[in-house]
Amino acid sequence: MRKRIVAGNWKMNNTLDEGLALASEVVNMVNDEVTDDVMAILCTPFIHLAQVSKITAESDKVFLAAQNVSEHAAGAYTGDISVAMLKSVGATHVVLGHSERRAYHNETNAQLAARVDISLAGGLLPIFCCGEALETRESGKHEAFVTNQLKESLFHLTAEEMLKVVVAYEPIWAIGTGVTASTAQAQEMHKAIRAFLAEKYGDAVASEISILYGGSAKPSNAPELFSQPDVDGGLIGGAALKARDFVDIIKSY
Ligand code: PEP
Repeated sequence: MRKRIVAGNWKMNNTLDEGLALASEVVNMVNDEVTDDVMAILCTPFIHLAQVSKITAESDKVFLAAQNVSEHAAGAYTGDISVAMLKSVGATHVVLGHSERRAYHNETNAQLAARVDISLAGGLLPIFCCGEALETRESGKHEAFVTNQLKESLFHLTAEEMLKVVVAYEPIWAIGTGVTASTAQAQEMHKAIRAFLAEKYGDAVASEISILYGGSAKPSNAPELFSQPDVDGGLIGGAALKARDFVDIIKSY
């Protein structure tokens, strides 16, 4: 059975002290309140990872992700962070291809394919983001756009590798805007993504891959979104910065 996952993307928020306080609050609440069948992931800035990992170690339900990784193993890449570095501080996952990184850092599908590969080879599990801009949706090409992102960054993987990837569908027009995709829009795209995965890898593999929804999810809309058959959790931005809201979203299941 595929995993239910709620990941909180802190983006470039929180000083170290603020981040440690938030992580502690989340871990305590998750340990007290969340059932075993949901996995929480904190996606923190790089500088928080080493210390937050000591806090997430106190829970077998909370995992730790970086928000990016280099496609290079090591060397003269000033400012970049490698898979080995992330593993050495306790990260288990890495967010790849977030729309903000695609937009502000020109990350391409090919570059993301290389980051997926080096992550998997080093034992870091990718949370691979995909999603269309508003004009793409309005032109009716959103399904083709998203499936192409998956094809160009993931479809070189073997089935065994693909099973280690979490997909996050994040319509760009819903990220940080307060506009959430309707439950029907989310389910329709998640179903299409799963069907596309099934075309390449077969139903058995596709049915094991967790597909998360991201875009202005909050405690009030998470229960309906998470009730959809192909929505396996969420990648949460703004609402992940408040422990109570984030844990209430996790508890929407
Ligand atoms: C995100 O950045 O991944 C995200 C979903 O943000 P928000 O929840 O704030 O829309």
